[in-house]
Amino acid sequence: MVDLTQSEDAIRRTARHLAETVFAGRAAEIDREERYPWENVEALRDAGLTGMTIPIALGGRGASLLAAVAAVTEIARHCAVSARIVVETNMGALGAILAYGTDAQKRLAADLVLAGDKPAICITEPGAGSAATQMATTARRVAGGYVLDGAKHWITGGGVSRLHLIFARVIEGGRDRGIGAFIALRGAEGLGIGRREPTMGLRGIPETEILLDGLFVADDMVLIPEGDPARGFAKLMTAYNAQRVGAAAVALGIAQGAFGLARDYLREREQFGRPLAEFQGLQWILADMSVALAAAEALVWRAARSAPAGGFPDMTYAAQAKILAAETAVKVTNDALQLHGAAGYSRARPLERMVRDARMFTIGGGTAQVLRTQVASAELGLKLPQTRAARGDAPATPLP
Ligand code: FAD
Repeated sequence: MVDLTQSEDAIRRTARHLAETVFAGRAAEIDREERYPWENVEALRDAGLTGMTIPIALGGRGASLLAAVAAVTEIARHCAVSARIVVETNMGALGAILAYGTDAQKRLAADLVLAGDKPAICITEPGAGSAATQMATTARRVAGGYVLDGAKHWITGGGVSRLHLIFARVIEGGRDRGIGAFIALRGAEGLGIGRREPTMGLRGIPETEILLDGLFVADDMVLIPEGDPARGFAKLMTAYNAQRVGAAAVALGIAQGAFGLARDYLREREQFGRPLAEFQGLQWILADMSVALAAAEALVWRAARSAPAGGFPDMTYAAQAKILAAETAVKVTNDALQLHGAAGYSRARPLERMVRDARMFTIGGGTAQVLRTQVASAELGLKLPQTRAARGDAPATPLP
C-alpha cells in the first residue's frame, strides 16, 4: 500500500465510508434501472470528492492526482458508476481546461463541476475510434468563432453532462489546420443528443451520440494551447494521461471488490463437509488473483505519483497502468465469479455486474492494443505510425 499524506488519506477514508455506507446499497438498482445516480453525485459533492483536484483559488481542494485515484479505487469496489463520475469530475476534460484554458474557461469549468456537473469529452466518431486523428467533425472559421459540424458517439454522460469539450478539425481559409478543442454547453443550438448505446456494463452512465449541426463556438470558448487553436488535440493527449490513470483506478477498485467477496465466500461456503477455502485448487486461484492485484495496484500508484502538482502523469506509466489494471480486472472479476459457482452467476449478488462493469476498461479511453503500441514506441524510441500512408505499406492482398 502506497504512503499517502494525511490529507490524501483523509480523502481516501471519506471515499471508503461513503462507498461502504451509501453507494454499495444503491449500486444494483442503478445498474438495473440504467439511471444516472444524481443522489450519489450530490453525496460526492457534499463530501468534497467531485472537483477535489480543482485549485483552491477556484473553489476546489487542490488535491493531488494520487488522492483522487485513492478515492476512485475505494468507490469502485462498491459502485463503478460513481467511481467513473469521480474520475470525470477530477480529470479528463476538466484537467485539460484547467491546464490550458483561459481564466474565464477555468472558472466556468470549475463552477460547473463544483455544482455537480460531470463534463463530457467528445473525441470518438463512428469512423474514428482508435484512429482518433482521422475524425471528420469540422470547425470552420467564421467571424467571431467557429462553426462545428459532425457526429460523435460513445460519449460518456451524453444528455446529463452540461460541459462538453469537443474535438474537431480546424478549417481556416479552406485549409485543414489540425485538431482543436472547443467548449460548449448542453442546450446550445446545434448541439444535439443522439441515440443512447445499450451497454454491457456501467449502465448508470449514458453513452450517447453527440450531433453537431452548425454549432457556433465563440472565440473565447476555444481551448488554445500554445497560442494555436489547432494544438488542442496534442495537448489534450497529455491531459488524457490523468484520465487513463483514473480509468485504471476504477478497474483496480472493481477487481479489489470482487476479490474481497471471493475471499469471504471461500471461507463461508462449505462443500464436501469443509470450507471451500481448504481446497488447494481454489487457494491457488485466489493467490494468483492476489498477485495480479498487487502488481496492478503498484503500477496505478506509480503512475498517479508521477504527476507533478497541477500536472499530468507520465504517459508510459499511465499506459502501462491502464493495460495491466484493465486486463487484471477482466480476469479477477471472472475468477471471483467462478469461485462463487452459481451464486456468482446470479443477479442477486454483485459479481455478474462486476464482470460486466470491468469489461469496458480494455476498450474505452485507448484500447489495450493501442496502448501497447504506445508503450512499445516509448521503449523503442520509435514513432510507430499506423496508417499505410505513413508507413509506406501496400494494402494486404488475398492469397491466390
Ligand atoms: P476500433 O478502433 O474500431 O478498434 C477495434 C479493435 O481493433 C480493438 O480491439 C482495437 O484495439 C484494435 N485496433 C485498432 N487499431 C489498431 C492498431 N493500429 N493496432 C492494433 N490494434 C488495433 N470516446 C469519447 O470520445 N468520449 C467518451 O466519453 C468515451 N467514452 C466511452 C465509454 C465506453 C464505455 C466505451 C466502450 C467507449 C468510450 N469512448 C469514448 C470510445 C473509446 O475511446 C473507443 O471505443 C476507443 O478509442 C476504441 O475505438 P473503437 O471502439 O472504435 O475501436
